[in-house]
Amino acid sequence: MVFVPRVLYVQKAALSYPRAARAIRILKKKDVPVVEFSGRLPLGHTDDVQRFFLSKRSLVLSVRKPTPFATCRPSADYQLPLASGCPGLCEYCYLHTALGLRSYLRVYVNLEETLSDAARLMEASPEPLRFEGAATSDPLPAERYTGVLADTISFFAGCQAWFRFVTKSADIEPLFGIRHAGRTTVRFSVNAERYIGSFEHGTAGLLERLSAAHRLRHEGYPVGLLVAPVFLESGWEDAYLQLIRQIKKAGLDGVELEFVTHRFTARARENIRRVFPHTNLPMQEEGRRYRRGQFGYGKYVYDESTMSRARDVMLGEVARLLPRSRVLYFV
Ligand code: SF4
Repeated sequence: MVFVPRVLYVQKAALSYPRAARAIRILKKKDVPVVEFSGRLPLGHTDDVQRFFLSKRSLVLSVRKPTPFATCRPSADYQLPLASGCPGLCEYCYLHTALGLRSYLRVYVNLEETLSDAARLMEASPEPLRFEGAATSDPLPAERYTGVLADTISFFAGCQAWFRFVTKSADIEPLFGIRHAGRTTVRFSVNAERYIGSFEHGTAGLLERLSAAHRLRHEGYPVGLLVAPVFLESGWEDAYLQLIRQIKKAGLDGVELEFVTHRFTARARENIRRVFPHTNLPMQEEGRRYRRGQFGYGKYVYDESTMSRARDVMLGEVARLLPRSRVLYFV
C-alpha cells in the first residue's frame, strides 16, 4: 500500500530546501494540491475529531527547530528527530499520548542540521551510539516523496554509530540500492493477526510486513521485528504462538526481536474514546499496575504476575521455534 496524501502542506520556511522542492514536484505530478502555510496548519475544520481524520491523510513538510535529542530507552540511546506522526490509524497508537489529536505525518526538511547534531553527539561519546528514527513517527510512508531515510541510511553507513527505525508500512522500494554498510536496522512492527484486524487501520497486513522484512534481509539490511503492543487478554497464548509460527514460516528465524506489552495513559484513553468511540481496546484499570513513565506521565501496564508468565511462555516459544533469533527486551 503506497501512501498518497490528500494534501501536501509546506511550511513557508521549508520552501527553500531541495527536499521540499522534490516532494512538491513528485506530488504535483500526482495532482496532489500543495498548500503553503506559516503558523498553524490550515486544516480548516472546527470539529477536532474530523480534523484528526483529515490530517491523517495529509503530509506536512516543515523545518525542525534546534532542540536537544531526547533519550530513547530501551530501543536506542537517542531519538533521531526525522519526522513526527504517521498516516496510520492504529487505535492504540502511543502518539495519542505524545501528540494528542495532532499526530499527522510531519517530515523535517532540514535533515542535514539534524545529522550534524547527531555527529556532535557521536564525537562526544566514548561508545558507539544507537539512534532511533521512529520514536514519534512512522517515517517510511513518506519516504518516496522526501528521501529522508535514504540520506540518513547513507550518512550512518560512514559512521561509527547505529541507526534503526520501525514501520508498519511495506512500501520498501525506496530503501533498495542504498549503501547501508549494515549500520541501519529496519524493524517491522507486527502483532497477532486478530489484533491487527481489530485495532490497526491504514497499515500493511501482517504477511506483507513479513514479506517486506524478508526482502530487506535479502538486501543485506539487519532486520528486526517489534512485537507490539502485546495484548495479554483471553486467548493470548494461541494468538502469539501463531504469530511466532508465521515469523518462522516467513523465513525470518535469526532476526532481532523486541516485545512491548500494551500500556495506556489516561490522556491516550480519553483521546482514543473520542476518536474511536466503539473501540474494544482493553483499557480497564483492573489487572494493571500504574507506573510512572520516562517522560513524566503515568501509564497502566499489566501486573507483574501476568507479565512474568507472558515473558516465560513467549520467550520459550521463541527459543523453540526461532532458535537463531535474539530477543533484545520484553517490557
Ligand atoms: Fe501509531 Fe505506529 Fe500505528 Fe502509525 S503505525 S498509527 S505510529 S501505532
